[in-house]
Amino acid sequence: MRKALIAANWKMYKTPAEAKAFVDAFLPLVKGHTRDEIALFPSATSLAVVIEAARGSNVAVGCQNIHFAEEGAYTGETSASMLKAVGGTHTLIGHSERRQYFAETDEIVNAKLKTALKHGIVPIVCIGEVLEERESGKTSEVLIRQTTKAFADITPEAAAPIVIAYEPVWAIGTGKTATPEMAQEAHAVIRAEGAKLLGPAVAEKMRILYGGSVKPDNATSLLGQADIDGALVGGASLKPDSFAGILKY
Ligand code: PEP
Repeated sequence: MRKALIAANWKMYKTPAEAKAFVDAFLPLVKGHTRDEIALFPSATSLAVVIEAARGSNVAVGCQNIHFAEEGAYTGETSASMLKAVGGTHTLIGHSERRQYFAETDEIVNAKLKTALKHGIVPIVCIGEVLEERESGKTSEVLIRQTTKAFADITPEAAAPIVIAYEPVWAIGTGKTATPEMAQEAHAVIRAEGAKLLGPAVAEKMRILYGGSVKPDNATSLLGQADIDGALVGGASLKPDSFAGILKY
């Protein structure tokens, strides 16, 4: 059985004080919740305060992005060692907003994934098609290409911690959600490709999250699908009640 992971992507929202207030209100709502793993992804300036506020709880904390280099002249970036030094354990990689606004390519995603694995950071690799690709019947092709390129030169032995997030770009922040059947179909394609690249044993254990307008009222049907192993949540993760509501699926 794969343990579900429910993750909050706060994007560029919340000051450190607002982030701490969230954690203080949220922890009592999920106290004793062991069925799922829970992770918060605040902005880099709130990482330390959120990690401190969540210390000793059932809530992990990660970065929304890391750089692939160990260190260097990369203004504005955060390294894997920096994330680890403040106690972060997870990172998002290749979120569609990073691909769209910061020109992250599949090659960069692959380099970041290798760096995260090298440092023992749990990577959540985001993939997904844009609307035009879905409408022209290219969804599977896009998912296979993104998965293949993300996993380039990664061995089955190294791949165990990898989490994938399938996020149809047209469903992110739009209120449009893939139907559970559409999401399941995409997740099955990703798992099958994972099996080809890394072997069936690794693919069977790999968690594939769904992301795209997940809310308390659609979480149950999405998470009820055989290959959906959790959720990456943007908008509905910004309020403690709403994010805790998703955890009641
Ligand atoms: C996301 O940011 O990864 C996301 C899925 O956002 P939303 O839930 O707002 O669609």
